[in-house]
Amino acid sequence: MKLSYYCTSCKEENYIKTKTAERYGFLKEYSSKEINERCKHCGNFTKKDINRLHAEPNNYLIIGGIIAAILFTVIFWGFGYISTLTAGIPFYFWVSENKKTSLFNKSRVR
Ligand SMILES: [Zn+2]
Repeated sequence: MKLSYYCTSCKEENYIKTKTAERYGFLKEYSSKEINERCKHCGNFTKKDINRLHAEPNNYLIIGGIIAAILFTVIFWGFGYISTLTAGIPFYFWVSENKKTSLFNKSRVR
């Protein structure tokens, strides 16, 4: 999961990486109610309330799940039923990432 915000100067989208899945956890991680991040595109500092950050699913994780599924399918090709199970891996990542982001986007910190 990654957090996104738009730069106030150039309107480009920027991302903040986070380990936590909750807005409250991010507040603790950042130890401030307001972020002050440098734009990757123009270098302008943008101040944003943590409540205004928007979470997005991490697509790399989903792609990683697809690659893992292909590898497992190839390795366990002889066992027919396992390849059906491995096809569920990217789906699992996709569901869990979307669950986390929607929970994050619904939550607010005070
Ligand atoms: Zn910018």
